[in-house]
Amino acid sequence: MSKDLIIGSHVGMSAPNYYLGSVEEALSYGATTFMFYTGAPQNSIRKPLNELKIAEGRQLIKNSGIDEQKIIVHAPYVLNLANDSDYDKLQKAKEFLKSELIRTEAFGSQILVFHPGAHIGKGSDYGIKLISKAIDDIYDQIPDCKVKIALETMAGKGTEIGSVFEEIQQIIASCRHNDRLGVCIDTCHMNDSGYDVFNFDDLLDEFDKIIGINRILVVHVNDSKNPRSAHKDRHENIGYGEIGFKALNAIVNHPKLKSVPKILETPYVDGKAPYKKEIEMFRNEIYEDDWRNRL
Ligand code: FE
Ligand code: FE
Ligand code: ZN
Repeated sequence: MSKDLIIGSHVGMSAPNYYLGSVEEALSYGATTFMFYTGAPQNSIRKPLNELKIAEGRQLIKNSGIDEQKIIVHAPYVLNLANDSDYDKLQKAKEFLKSELIRTEAFGSQILVFHPGAHIGKGSDYGIKLISKAIDDIYDQIPDCKVKIALETMAGKGTEIGSVFEEIQQIIASCRHNDRLGVCIDTCHMNDSGYDVFNFDDLLDEFDKIIGINRILVVHVNDSKNPRSAHKDRHENIGYGEIGFKALNAIVNHPKLKSVPKILETPYVDGKAPYKKEIEMFRNEIYEDDWRNRL
């Protein structure tokens, strides 16, 4: 049994307890890390930090023995740095990402997961240049910020950038501040974009050759509703999708990723969070058939 596995799930952050409530939710799942959005994932409206019970949450983290630096913030997925057709909108996205890095640090976290963006027709090379330029502009303005951006591998919907490792590497290589960049690998996205997640040793070797394994800061652990190369991005509960428990468990418990936090982003089951059970199965490395029926 892997007691030292660093695993948790996406958790909410809502009134009245905000961050304290997020930590409590994570602990209720038996998690040793977690991920949250600093507000709604689909917009950039944010409450002032002093209303979010951050000190109370951080105290509870300290008492529970969770490594605060492995807690993850996810940037809202509407931010797109790869499209300059609306100059104002791009400036706003950059301004928001900068403020999100500052917020992430205030929570004590050091990792901000970020979707690279979509080029909307101008080509990925063009989009990648915009992304790299934006990231450099942002870090130029906050030279002391310790928070790293983890670029997430994407499923390849529409004109999404980052569905192949080479594009992520191009972003990293084009940034002056590339010491601040890492990667979040998402099992559902890799499967949907066409990678063979069933032979993870080989996949990790490929990743290592193109990007470097020590860039991996986060693993998103999701089963997929769709087969390999579907380019869909629909997450499924562990063991109920096309990837299955065995392949996912080999990734979660991979010896080369031991120190990397694993985050579940699987769907709720009839209004109930599945994470306690999903975490337990990965810790025990044993799958329980039809577990959703007993939630
Ligand atoms: Fe994501
Ligand atoms: Fe993800
Ligand atoms: Zn996804």
